[in-house]
Amino acid sequence: MLLSFDVEEFDMPLEYHFPITVPAQMEVGKKGLDAIGPVLSDSNIVTTLFTTANFAMQYPEDIRELAGRHEIASHTFYHSAFEDAHLLSSKMKLEEISGKKVTGLRMPRMRKVSLEEVKKAGYQYDSSVNPTYLPGRYNNLHLPRTLYREEGLIRIPASVSPFFRVPLFWLSFKNLPYTLFKMFALQALKKDGYLCLYFHPWEFTDIENYGLPGFTKKLNGQPLLERLNRLLTDLKKEADFISMDTFHNEKALHTQGPSVVLPKTN
Ligand SMILES: [Zn+2]
Repeated sequence: MLLSFDVEEFDMPLEYHFPITVPAQMEVGKKGLDAIGPVLSDSNIVTTLFTTANFAMQYPEDIRELAGRHEIASHTFYHSAFEDAHLLSSKMKLEEISGKKVTGLRMPRMRKVSLEEVKKAGYQYDSSVNPTYLPGRYNNLHLPRTLYREEGLIRIPASVSPFFRVPLFWLSFKNLPYTLFKMFALQALKKDGYLCLYFHPWEFTDIENYGLPGFTKKLNGQPLLERLNRLLTDLKKEADFISMDTFHNEKALHTQGPSVVLPKTN
């Protein structure tokens, strides 16, 4: 079980032209991190925390402490602005703060990135792929559904259901009936041998008043946390929770994995 959280400043209201100051973005991000504290201190759960350097610099003690049990990976430097140089600078900053090596990357909003640049910055795996179709965002139906190699880099896509590629991510978790989401998740776990799910800490705070569309906050705060706890209880019966770094190392050592050659994207 690969459970990850994108630990970041809460800048999503800006996408919907709702103003929110940087300090307020940080505060909501931190509130979320506190809200999922019980999940992160559960001795049966190891997660991967894709963290922006910007957020980690604001709350370095928290990130360093979390690095004791969890994997700290990069969610680049800033959630709202990106240039290739941030691949390396965020990795270095996160290593400095966490005291651990950073091997994984997930781009904000799963945006496309040059794998050449990702490799150059020293990452070993990338988890910036959602192999599904999201209208207005991306169409990745041509990409492999499960772990693959591309340009010498391991890519770990977010899980989708084996049939029809229903994305098993933060939005479907709150919008699908729980039993349906769980059914798809268990199907993917059984078929693929692992399940890669991701959420954001800020979802587990009250985000009613930031001008966000209903589908992004259908459940939020405590009711969503209760749903997450229910899922984790159900998944603990089925799988061990490990970090994506551990997972990618096992895969790299013991299998060749499918290799694909894809057209260059940038
Ligand atoms: Zn993000």
